[in-house]
Amino acid sequence: MSEKVRVRFAPSPTGSLHIGGARTALFNLLFARHNNGTFVLRIEDTDTERSTEESAAQIVRSLKWLGIDWDEGPEKGGDFGPYFQSQRLELYKKEVDRLLVEGKAYYCYCTPEELAQRREAALKAGKPPKYDGCCRNLTPEQREKFEAEGRKPTIRLKMPEEGYTEVDDLIRGKVVFENSVLDDFIIVKSNGIPTYNFACVVDDNAMKITHIIRAEEHLSNTPKQIQAYRALGYDIPKFAHVPMILAPDRSKLSKRHGATSVEEFKDQGYLAKAIINYLTLLGWSPEGTEEIFEIDKAIKEFTLERVNKTAAIYDVKKLTWINGHYMRELDVNFVTEETIPFMIKKGIVTEEEAKEKFDYIREIVDISRDRSKTLDELAESIAFFFKDVTEYEEKGVRKHFAKENAAKLLTLGADALEKLGDFTLETTEATFRNITEELGLKAAEIIHPTRLAITGRTIGPGLFHIIVLLGREKTVERMRKAVKWINDNVHAEE
Ligand code: GLU
Ligand code: ZN
Repeated sequence: MSEKVRVRFAPSPTGSLHIGGARTALFNLLFARHNNGTFVLRIEDTDTERSTEESAAQIVRSLKWLGIDWDEGPEKGGDFGPYFQSQRLELYKKEVDRLLVEGKAYYCYCTPEELAQRREAALKAGKPPKYDGCCRNLTPEQREKFEAEGRKPTIRLKMPEEGYTEVDDLIRGKVVFENSVLDDFIIVKSNGIPTYNFACVVDDNAMKITHIIRAEEHLSNTPKQIQAYRALGYDIPKFAHVPMILAPDRSKLSKRHGATSVEEFKDQGYLAKAIINYLTLLGWSPEGTEEIFEIDKAIKEFTLERVNKTAAIYDVKKLTWINGHYMRELDVNFVTEETIPFMIKKGIVTEEEAKEKFDYIREIVDISRDRSKTLDELAESIAFFFKDVTEYEEKGVRKHFAKENAAKLLTLGADALEKLGDFTLETTEATFRNITEELGLKAAEIIHPTRLAITGRTIGPGLFHIIVLLGREKTVERMRKAVKWINDNVHAEE
């Protein structure tokens, strides 16, 4: 590519950053990095009724958390700022004035009610319900009369009435739109604020954007925007519309399909790297079959040719599977740091305790993380190291505590551990094996009830790892407590 690649992600701050938006941002980033280009973040906040500063801040936060790093934009600045559309109104005004003077745009005084009425009439008459061009050629007198009535005009762009507008899309190929179906669309609302289709074009030109990579839902806006580029005398950038993301049942992705915003995934205990990995594969396919894909590798391989033309199916199971992979493989210090906020939120440790006992928590995370698919699950699964066991898993009670010799084995085990010298993996294991061997039993006979006694659960990391990390005192205490519980509950019922 000869020109320097410049791409942008241009979210409207009307809510949180969703999976779809994050995927669009990521593809822009991958494309920019692959081509040594520049990635711009622009906040499209001209819709004053729906945009909020909080939502802009949240989008910025989510992007940063994901590691989707922009070169120019909020917090970073750059040569083409400001990067909030609400701060660029003068530029839009200048360009609109130019169009008005050149006769390429015009004031429209129709009220919303009048427009609605005429749309209905057109539909009844079997005509396309588009704007009928009624204000295209108003005389100065007609305009004055409307102004005197106190009407606040919109400004519309004159569209060609015949012919075609072609979009040469880098993903979808050539898409042709008939001009006769295009409205003279509104470029400035009656409150003086430009619309998306206009502000976007002025900015993409002013910011020297070379490739517009965005969601497929904007493909239908593209012919309008191309007409605006022409009217303004701008060079037309390249377009690439990435396919939609659908729910597993191929319906539109929505709340009822579970978490869809980045923040929600974060709160549920997904790792940023896992989400990035998952999003990379959502509508893009690498050359090989490998599905674990860190961002550097994705940057190396990313081309728009490999973006799929068909909709991507969102599959939270796959995301969770990928998350499990990163839970196991990432640096244990990092995973520990990420787990701690979940422990604090659950009241398992306080912030101070977490700081003090970081090394201890890391050891626990190290032996436990293989079994958890999310940070939240992991935090929950290690709570027993810090909190007394107050409940025993019912299935385990039936299987392990209800056995005749359970209380006896737990007592023997507790007695032996109490007397044991060095308290290590090897010595604790040997102690348990001796007890069962002497009785002609398998080691499992003591291992299962002990696990249930000291963790409340039937599955988890290796028992002797747990015993050593939990420590002699707590282990023995919990075993004895379980003996009492068995006597009170299991045998009392007999
Ligand atoms: N603000 C638009 C949106 O969030 C941007 C579309 C575009 O990338 O042109 O959908
Ligand atoms: Zn009109």
